[in-house]
Amino acid sequence: MALAGSAVKSSKSTSRKASKAKTALDRFGEIKMPDLTYTDKIAKATAPLYEKVRHHIPEIEWPIHAPYVYWINKLKKKRNATILAHNYQTPEIYHCVADIVGDSLQLAREAGLVKEEIIIQCGVHFMAETSKLLNPEKTVLIPDMRAGCSLAESITAADIRLLREAHSGVPIVTYVNTSAEVKAESDICCTSSNAVRVVESFESDTVFLIPDEYLAQNVAKLTKKKILTWAGHCEVHERFTAEELLAYKKADPAIQIIAHPECPPSVVAVSDYAGSTAGMIEYAKTRKPGAKVLLVTECSMASNIEMEAKGVEFIKPCNLCPHMKRITLPKILESLVYMKEEVLVDPAMAKKAKRAVERMVNLKPN
Ligand code: SF4
Repeated sequence: MALAGSAVKSSKSTSRKASKAKTALDRFGEIKMPDLTYTDKIAKATAPLYEKVRHHIPEIEWPIHAPYVYWINKLKKKRNATILAHNYQTPEIYHCVADIVGDSLQLAREAGLVKEEIIIQCGVHFMAETSKLLNPEKTVLIPDMRAGCSLAESITAADIRLLREAHSGVPIVTYVNTSAEVKAESDICCTSSNAVRVVESFESDTVFLIPDEYLAQNVAKLTKKKILTWAGHCEVHERFTAEELLAYKKADPAIQIIAHPECPPSVVAVSDYAGSTAGMIEYAKTRKPGAKVLLVTECSMASNIEMEAKGVEFIKPCNLCPHMKRITLPKILESLVYMKEEVLVDPAMAKKAKRAVERMVNLKPN
């Protein structure tokens, strides 16, 4: 198993190699950090955005967020930048400054279509790398280079090469929550929304689905393929237990439990539905008003989808992702002002990794 932080380390090494080249700041130039005073002008301009988040941000706190929201929206136009935000970002990022929101697959698809010169990735490092792979001409920035992922850090390219040696001929499917160097060694990538389809796209009876052990075990229940896996876990979803969910169900049998497939199989077994974050949103949106839905995933997602699933009461047994939460409004503003932190991927590795991601993105729906 890799040491924690390997994804971020790999990026630093590619950043070092590129240190002789012009930095993003050299290329785009610095702009002055704006005055972050909460003025009447900012209050008026941001009032419609506050309406989207008033259930999550007390009025007394809005003057702290509003100047950042105002200036991020101004400067992203000036920089010709677009902001991609994962469903696990906080409501003020998701609703007030993001241009595109979604799960890993949706963001990967959209990243390849971005026309603006700069992509600001509000998510974790492997997502920024994926954007760079799919749209290499663009400058990709992540507001905090330390935003890693326990799954991505659980496996290295050397691990994959050893697996290939030991299991010659067995296709290797890697979850998108992996570094570019791991993707480069894989046959194809998958996300939680398409993992079954990807696994079944191979003729082989046995397929590796790595590095998420729980996702692999959950997928194995939905396919006849023999699934081999790896002992990586999402540190957010592995914390949920079947016991705690059954306690909610006992208190109110009408509660519908929806879980992410990165949860242990015992958790998925007591859930009414399991699917990707996009699948969970769709499930919640189609519930009748008055339904009670317990979301077994990262905390911010329920807050973000409450607006889309009006009338549904969400119960949130909350677990935060510390990596996603490294991304904040002040850091996004700094990214735009100082053009940091740029995510670079070695071109030879990028070519191989891109092939694995594109195979997934281009896989025909069933
Ligand atoms: S929620 Fe889990 S899988 Fe997603 S970034 Fe955080 S640690 Fe990684």
